[in-house]
Amino acid sequence: MIELKTPDEIEAMRAAGIVVADALAAVRAEALVGVPLTALDQVARDVLADAGASSPFLGYRPGFAQKPFPAVICTSVNDAVLHGIPDGYRLRDGDLLSIDFGAILDGWAGDAAMSFAVGRPRRADQRLIETAGAALAAGIAAAIPGARIGDISAAIGRVGRAGGYGINTDFGGHGVGRTMHESPSVPNEGRPGRGMQLQPGLVIAIEPWFLGGGHDEYRVDPDGWTLRSADGSHGAHVEHTVAITPEGPRILTAAADG
Ligand code: MG
Repeated sequence: MIELKTPDEIEAMRAAGIVVADALAAVRAEALVGVPLTALDQVARDVLADAGASSPFLGYRPGFAQKPFPAVICTSVNDAVLHGIPDGYRLRDGDLLSIDFGAILDGWAGDAAMSFAVGRPRRADQRLIETAGAALAAGIAAAIPGARIGDISAAIGRVGRAGGYGINTDFGGHGVGRTMHESPSVPNEGRPGRGMQLQPGLVIAIEPWFLGGGHDEYRVDPDGWTLRSADGSHGAHVEHTVAITPEGPRILTAAADG
């Protein structure tokens, strides 16, 4: 079932989204060469505690997982692109790091992700990150009342394919509300004019992830979570939680200072 949110509920979701934005900014500021991934998880835990928010990631166990997710952030490095578990790995110069994070505040969820280079970026990684960001922007721009889910999907897919990147639709965007993952699903490829029509009050996470090698095959680590490109190429993942409003798309996980 798809629940449309009232303007007051969207304001409450915005408050959750600000916690998400704050945590991602804090994690990024801490993500320096030599820092272990577990330290980044602790940074995010501290932001949640300070905000009185909880984690929808910690203990999450969807159907594909053998064990509950043990952290509040996903840390995916280089050829890992989704669902990486923070461990003792220490960041190295040039690593491509993708961070996914969610928060629940006053009963409402927010979900966002960012990708960036630690230290000096490799040129190919920079282009991959920029293209993922451009795809996210294109997907958000398509999220207007009267458009359809397929318009968002097509906008994302067009940017990724133009960049020559691999797009796998096993994981993608989704509705957000009282819980992190709700209907409808928002794939990263699709046909314009198809799918559910977008109405004011719909809140969705839009989250392109692309593989730099141009192929869409991936494998999952023995931990049951960490998703890596099959060809060893790097991946990038970016995400915002977005509300469809009569005035157009509103990014609920944008930083409070704009
Ligand atoms: Mg998501």
